Amino acid sequence: MKPVNRFQKDFRWEGVPRKAYKPEGDHFRDITRQTLFGPESGLDAELRYFEIEPGGYSTLEKHAHAHAVLIIRGRGRVLVGDEIFEIAPFDMVRVPPMTWHQFRPADDTPLGFLCLVNAERDRPVRPTKEDLREINGRREVADYIRA
Ligand code: MN
Repeated sequence: MKPVNRFQKDFRWEGVPRKAYKPEGDHFRDITRQTLFGPESGLDAELRYFEIEPGGYSTLEKHAHAHAVLIIRGRGRVLVGDEIFEIAPFDMVRVPPMTWHQFRPADDTPLGFLCLVNAERDRPVRPTKEDLREINGRREVADYIRA
């Protein structure tokens, strides 16, 4: 990787491929990933840019690793634990370990955010039927989540 990856129009970075969010699954929709910085650059972390199109959503998941998320494009909402928050540039979102989370854009704009994670991390887990019953306990959350 060159020292500088120039920012291009439409939230692309020079030399950085835009990839699938996850290798496979039907638990997410209309979301792409660009890995801007990886462990090969000398830090035990990855910095990714994710972008979700209107109507799309990230996986409803939890895991032992944490996320530091900085919103940089569009608007939307995020579920963290059992609360839903409105998000816009340049809001900072903290996802603590073992906390359910899901990102969704507003209806009329994509949602783009930087996400910092440990390079070595555990695999996300998705909710069981029992978990879903608990997560869906609040009407607002039940209307929000896509799983
Ligand atoms: Mn996650």
